[in-house]
Amino acid sequence: MNIDQGEDGNGVLSRSERPDAGLGHASSAGITLMGDPGSRGYFGEFGGQFVPEALVPACQQLETAFRSAWPDSSFRKSLDGILHAYAGRPTPVTECRRLSENLGIRLLLKREDLTHTGSHKINNVLGQALLAKRMGKPRLIAETGAGQHGVAAATAAALFGLECEVYMGEMDVHRQELNVFRMKLLGAKVRSVSNGSRTLKDAVNEALRDWVANVESTYYCIGSVVGPHPYPWIVRELQAVVGNEARSQCREILGGADPDVVVACVGGGSNAAGTFAGFVDSSSELIGVEASGGAAISRGVPGVVHGMKSMFLQDDDGQVQEAQSISAGLDYPGTGPEHAHLSSLGRARYTAANDVQVLDAFSLLSRTEGIIPALEPAHALAFVIEAARAGEIPGGASVLITLSGRGDKDVAQVMDLTAGG
Ligand SMILES: *Cc1c(COP(=O)(O)O)cnc(C)c1O
Repeated sequence: MNIDQGEDGNGVLSRSERPDAGLGHASSAGITLMGDPGSRGYFGEFGGQFVPEALVPACQQLETAFRSAWPDSSFRKSLDGILHAYAGRPTPVTECRRLSENLGIRLLLKREDLTHTGSHKINNVLGQALLAKRMGKPRLIAETGAGQHGVAAATAAALFGLECEVYMGEMDVHRQELNVFRMKLLGAKVRSVSNGSRTLKDAVNEALRDWVANVESTYYCIGSVVGPHPYPWIVRELQAVVGNEARSQCREILGGADPDVVVACVGGGSNAAGTFAGFVDSSSELIGVEASGGAAISRGVPGVVHGMKSMFLQDDDGQVQEAQSISAGLDYPGTGPEHAHLSSLGRARYTAANDVQVLDAFSLLSRTEGIIPALEPAHALAFVIEAARAGEIPGGASVLITLSGRGDKDVAQVMDLTAGG
């Protein structure tokens, strides 16, 4: 396991050494961590808004709408009401007694698997669909790779009575027929994209083209903390409910203390960003776990792709490489700009777990706690298992993992991979 990627090289629990990571919510340079990225949308040197001229007004209109909605107590009240009565929030924090004993640590799980539709993605799409409503846009578009964000977007569109079209590469349409059927059941149109490599990046381009052409009527719903400003900021704010709830729930369980370590898996980075937002001003160590075949921060290089400057897996010619992972949700070749920033400051560190470790973690949590995790958060668990067994996480340390989703969607795949074993 790749656990030596921290900026300061001090190992997993280097809390005392981290410069100014603690209370005060600001770095020594006076930058507020996980705050408002300003009108240009920068997190340190990462982020920005790299879009064609024709999309600048659309991005500005969205930013203006969000800046008005987010502090508006009536907007927040509507959203909180929906998150409660429809999505099932607040989700609990569960203390894992048997697995804790097995690992010699105190393991807590933030249970996003218990939300409606079974993952944290619902927090983002409900917020953005409510914003679309407020902006008077009757039509929602989205792009999707494996289909999970497409299903989430179609769910929110159905709830709010919005027309919904989801762009999906032709290859993915064939690979993910069940999710295509789900989207159709939910009333969405699925647009199969046959350009280029017929995968996610072509779907993104088509969705952007649609947005330019139909910006009057259309809201573009992005699925993670990626893309041009203001998306990484909006999605992080909408997912911060995960970290904010978890912070106070952990305090209750831990007698007023914060967890020593807070861990989340990182694809685009939204569940991790939402989790970290709740703890960035604490002294908890923050760790993001990527898929080893999609480790954009731990093994990528800076670049400008999909409207943002961030970290990407690229080949020697600067071409973005396709990420490889058993978990569809972690196969995005880049990671959101704010993670690149947190990594460069050393406030969060990023590591990777491989497929074998992930399958072990998947089965260990199932057997010891009766919780079948999605393969994505099984990466976070795989890191914790390895680090606890290696003594990198000291005995008795309290560790919070965001369990971003449930494993029902992955059971057939795991059965094939392990030959039913
Ligand atoms: C989509 C997904 C992810 C990856 O997305 P992030 O934006 O990195 O959170 C992680 N876990 C689950 C369960 C997902 O569905």
